[in-house]
Amino acid sequence: MIELEEARAYVLEACAPLAPVRLPIARTLGCVAAEAQVSTDLVPPFANTAVDGFAVRADDTAGADPARPVRLRVIATIRAGMAPGVSPGPGEAVRIMTGAPVPVGADAVVMVERTAAVVTAAGAAELIDVVSPVAVGDAVRLAGDDLRPGDPVFPAGDVLSAGHLGVLATLGLTEVAVVPRARVGVLSTGDELVDGPGPLQPGQIRDSNRRTLLALVEQAGCVGVDLGRIPDDETAISEAIRRGASECDALVTSGGVSMGDFDFVKIVLDRIGDMRWMQVAIRPAKPLAFGTVPASPTDPMSRRVPVFGLPGNPVSSVVSFELFARPGLRQMMGRAATDLDRPLVQAVADDRLARRRDGKTHFARVVCRYGTDARYHVRSAGGQGSHHLSALVGANALAVLADGDAVEPGDTVAVYLTD
Ligand code: AMP
Ligand code: MG
Repeated sequence: MIELEEARAYVLEACAPLAPVRLPIARTLGCVAAEAQVSTDLVPPFANTAVDGFAVRADDTAGADPARPVRLRVIATIRAGMAPGVSPGPGEAVRIMTGAPVPVGADAVVMVERTAAVVTAAGAAELIDVVSPVAVGDAVRLAGDDLRPGDPVFPAGDVLSAGHLGVLATLGLTEVAVVPRARVGVLSTGDELVDGPGPLQPGQIRDSNRRTLLALVEQAGCVGVDLGRIPDDETAISEAIRRGASECDALVTSGGVSMGDFDFVKIVLDRIGDMRWMQVAIRPAKPLAFGTVPASPTDPMSRRVPVFGLPGNPVSSVVSFELFARPGLRQMMGRAATDLDRPLVQAVADDRLARRRDGKTHFARVVCRYGTDARYHVRSAGGQGSHHLSALVGANALAVLADGDAVEPGDTVAVYLTD
């Protein structure tokens, strides 16, 4: 048996970041930026008003108050999207809407709430009374106040968020260089597996792992490729793995990696891949097969495709995915070492989390909530057997139970927040 950290390090060693590509920005949410972005423009591109009101010369409004307002002549209206076209002189104002350019000649904007319309005869010049003074620059957003050409916008390595995409759009960019999402092929193996609603024949069960693993692949930020359900047949498994390797950046298999007589995944991967078969000191998910296969079976120099051979038991496959595949895949997508795993927090156990001393780290499916005492609390999500799918439904976290005795109520326990 090897320690979790050793197995993890072995996996991460083989999960090199994918080559950067330029993609339309609409497809890059959550991707890692492959290059630093520098501003090419002034943002905002022109001085504009932060409020609806009147562009004025600040000097004109000196001393204004409700009892002695300053009366100005309104010479034009500028809406957002218009070029200014006018320039107010002394005693003049320009009605202006939020986002519209502040005209040359004006140096401040009086918000409409600080003015009163003056009733005048039909056809006479429009007048307003300003009831409080403004200083130079009031309510004016200067050109380049946010970004100037050459300003750093974000560094390479940033995970592109909604905000990043907005800034790229503001700079007029339609594409950005990113580490792409990994295309991850998922296949199930086992003669006992079927799909869909029909009645089960003796010995059959429905394939649940493929659904779960494809969902976890998507949740990790990858693109899931469904490679189907493959019988325990050497040729069929071999074909599925070769096809997957040619189409995908990584493969996730479940089942067929134990010591059983029909565990052909092991046989096939040993033949075509460079695999390591590990017994990791964890429970569930002790067996792990990890290695690489060539993208092209006939070209030994071809790209190497990491393969995660996860155990078949449903809970084991999930735990193994979380501990090995998720960090490996995220590393392939350029995520930093601190951003590979789920968030790890300390929580108070509200329940007893049973375990025995056996030299392994246990991972218990738990329900975690943030309490009014400003601490996380966990309780068991149900059956802790590696076949207990139902406990995966309620669980939103995995508690890390270090080797030793049970975690008693009130004890502190480390927890990965998985949802
Ligand atoms: P194996 O690793 O192939 O020996 O499978 C271990 C256990 O997991 C067996 O009880 C299998 O029936 C079950 N199993 C394997 N693959 C799946 C799957 N895709 N969905 C649900 N159960 C599975
Ligand atoms: Mg099997």
